[in-house]
Amino acid sequence: MKKLIIANWKLNPTTIKDAQKLAASVFRRAKNTVVLCPPSIFLSQIKYPHLGAQDCFWQEKGAYTGQTSPLQLKSLKVEYCLVGHSERRQIGETDIQINFKLRTLLDHKITPVLCIGYGTTPEEDDLAVVDILRSQLDVDLQGIDASKIVVAYEPVWAIGIGKTPTSEHAEKIALFIKSKYNVGKVLYGGSANVMTSPAMLAERHIDGLLVGGDSLIAEHFNKIINF
Ligand code: PEP
Repeated sequence: MKKLIIANWKLNPTTIKDAQKLAASVFRRAKNTVVLCPPSIFLSQIKYPHLGAQDCFWQEKGAYTGQTSPLQLKSLKVEYCLVGHSERRQIGETDIQINFKLRTLLDHKITPVLCIGYGTTPEEDDLAVVDILRSQLDVDLQGIDASKIVVAYEPVWAIGIGKTPTSEHAEKIALFIKSKYNVGKVLYGGSANVMTSPAMLAERHIDGLLVGGDSLIAEHFNKIINF
C-alpha cells in the first residue's frame, strides 16, 4: 500500500530559484504519495502535484500581521498543513492554539498534519512519552474528528541529529495513537533518512514519514519516496 511521505523544508532554501530547482528535482511519480512543504512565501511558485504548508493561522482574515490564512492556502491549492511542530512549540505555540488551527483547517478541507513528540533525550522519552503524548493529544484533538487528521510522531531528541528510535518503538507508539484516538494516519518523523526509512516504512501502523534534512537532498529524498 502507498505510504505518505511529507518533506518539511523548514526555512530552506533561501531563494525562490533554489526552491524551484529543488522541487523540480523531486520525482513526480513515486511508489508513495509525496507532499512538499516549502516555506509559505514560495508556495505560489512551486509546481508539484501535492503541496503542504508548514503552519497557518486559525483566523481567516483581519488584523493579524504576519499570519497566513487557511483561505490563502486553499487558494494556492495547498492540500496539507503541518501544525504544532516541536520547533513552533518551543517558541510558545500551545495545545489550545493547535486545536484552533486543526479546527480551521478541517473547516477548509485542508488535511492537518499534527506533530507531537517529547523528550530531549531518549531516556526522558522512555519515562514519560505516552503520558506526554496523551496530554498533547487530549487538548489538540478536543472536539475534532481525528479520523481526518494525520499525526506525525516526532521524538524531539531525534529531530535533526541523525539518531532515531527503533522502528519497533515507533510502531508501538503509532498503534497507541491509532487505537486510543481513532487517528486516520500516523507518520514517523525525526532523522528519517535513506538509512532509517526502510525499517520505519516496513512497520504496519506507520503510514509514512515526515522528512526534514534529507528532503533537501534530492538524491536521498528520491530514494526515500520509492522505498
Ligand atoms: C522535522 O523536524 O520535522 C524533521 C523530521 O526533521 P529531520 O528529518 O531533519 O530530523
